[in-house]
Amino acid sequence: MKNINIAIDGPAGAGKSTIAKLAAARLGFIYVDTGAMYRAMALSCIRNNVSADEEEKVIKICEEAEVTIEYKNKEQCVLLNRENVNAYIRTEQVSRMTSSISTYSEVREKLLKLQRNIAENNNVIMDGRDIGSNVLPNADIKIYLTASVETRAKRRYLEQKEKGLDVDINEIEKDIEERDYRDMHRECAPLVIADGAIVIDSSDMTIEEVVNEIINLKLKLEKG
Ligand code: C5P
Repeated sequence: MKNINIAIDGPAGAGKSTIAKLAAARLGFIYVDTGAMYRAMALSCIRNNVSADEEEKVIKICEEAEVTIEYKNKEQCVLLNRENVNAYIRTEQVSRMTSSISTYSEVREKLLKLQRNIAENNNVIMDGRDIGSNVLPNADIKIYLTASVETRAKRRYLEQKEKGLDVDINEIEKDIEERDYRDMHRECAPLVIADGAIVIDSSDMTIEEVVNEIINLKLKLEKG
């Protein structure tokens, strides 16, 4: 039987990973966080002291980096050259580097293959920026999850504060706006609302409501 693929795209901080993780657990699907794969590549560049605008060096590092994923207790672990780097890829420095290096087509091509391969062999909920438009254009369900910039910045701010980090909400908002701009305006696989995608604005919705909407879409799909 063909595997079911659910694609979730949207801007930074829209809640994609929280929602995709919960929906995947309820459906018994694998959750694939493609942003984490790009982040692992960015981490490799930072560790090698290469800046994002050194295109040739970035591409070489990304070509040489071995990025794989494995699942431990149903959690996705991203391995960079076999090292689990989950703990190092969520900093603002890595976020900025990631959105810059993910503009290079060579970097994207490598991860695209890995992502398609996982989706071919599993029932997946995959989130990112170009999943419905580029990685899995034939996904069974496509969702574009968004929220206002203010809402997204506030969520990120509370998340970081909870981790005990000293953060400035205005800085976060500025970072998010810059990241959105880069992701939406790059030449290669920019963030767009994919053909056939259902747009969900989560600004005034609870996590539970969004997850339920996804489960309902899957039920509808089964009923044909
Ligand atoms: O989703 P997350 O915030 O972890 O993604 C980090 C960055 O990775 C994004 O800002 C984007 O530049 C890049 N990305 C991408 N394509 C994807 C997933 C993430 O370009 N499919």
